[in-house]
Amino acid sequence: MAGFTIRGVSKVYGGTPPTETLTNIDLTIEDGEFLSILGPSGCGKSTLLEILAGLQLPSSGEVFIGGKKLQGPGIERGVVFQDPSLYPWRTVSKNVELGLELRGTTKAGRRAAAQKYLDLVGLTGFENKYPHHLSGGMKQRAGLARALANSPEVLLMDEPFGAVDHLTRLQLQDDLLDIWEAEKKTVVFVTHDVSEAVFLGDRVVLLSPRPGRISRIFQVPQKRPRK
Ligand code: ADP
Ligand code: ADP
Repeated sequence: MAGFTIRGVSKVYGGTPPTETLTNIDLTIEDGEFLSILGPSGCGKSTLLEILAGLQLPSSGEVFIGGKKLQGPGIERGVVFQDPSLYPWRTVSKNVELGLELRGTTKAGRRAAAQKYLDLVGLTGFENKYPHHLSGGMKQRAGLARALANSPEVLLMDEPFGAVDHLTRLQLQDDLLDIWEAEKKTVVFVTHDVSEAVFLGDRVVLLSPRPGRISRIFQVPQKRPRK
């Protein structure tokens, strides 16, 4: 597991005029916690998550992961976006195996990992289907399995359930908590949905409208009882 220390992070996107997006974010994310980042559209949530993923550099300030200065993306951080972007010409299982393939894991090892995580996300039986056979919720499940198969210590999730219907979303939220309890990962979850942030998070960081700054941090008193 790994946590983050974010110190004085600001982000200004270039352009005329420049877009001041995040201002002076100071935050510690604990090992193994489920942290929700909540705020109105455009306040810089995605930018903050991309900074944690190493996909964006802060304009000023520093980010540490597990005590080490964060430099670019890393295999210990899995990212799940709203659009799971599965390769349509690969089966579900082959999509999940992709990261392991790039790392040179043996075929048997890849197969075993894909099976384990497809089972975990509730896609048993869909291994050899192609993405177009899956519903929206199931594509998200496959995207989550793909991230988990690389055994990341941290899951960075950006509105992953934003494009699925409401009832499916509730089911996915519940299942995500089950997976988080089973896999003991640090999760940083970006959403603009208050009930989602509170249902999922141990803590909720509330960002102000752009430029995003931390306006409140809530400890969630009664998260869903552990099963
Ligand atoms: P949120 O996820 O909270 O909706 P974002 O981080 O996506 O917020 O965006 C915050 C602000 O930064 C927006 O005004 C957006 O237009 C701007 N922004 C985001 N990415 C870029 C970029 N690559 N270049 C310029 N401006 C950007
Ligand atoms: P959605 O409501 O978008 O289908 P879920 O991930 O909640 O998303 O799917 C619920 C269940 O419905 C799946 O686990 C699966 O058993 C079944 N299902 C959904 N779509 C299909 C499909 N295209 N083919 C077969 N079963 C499906």
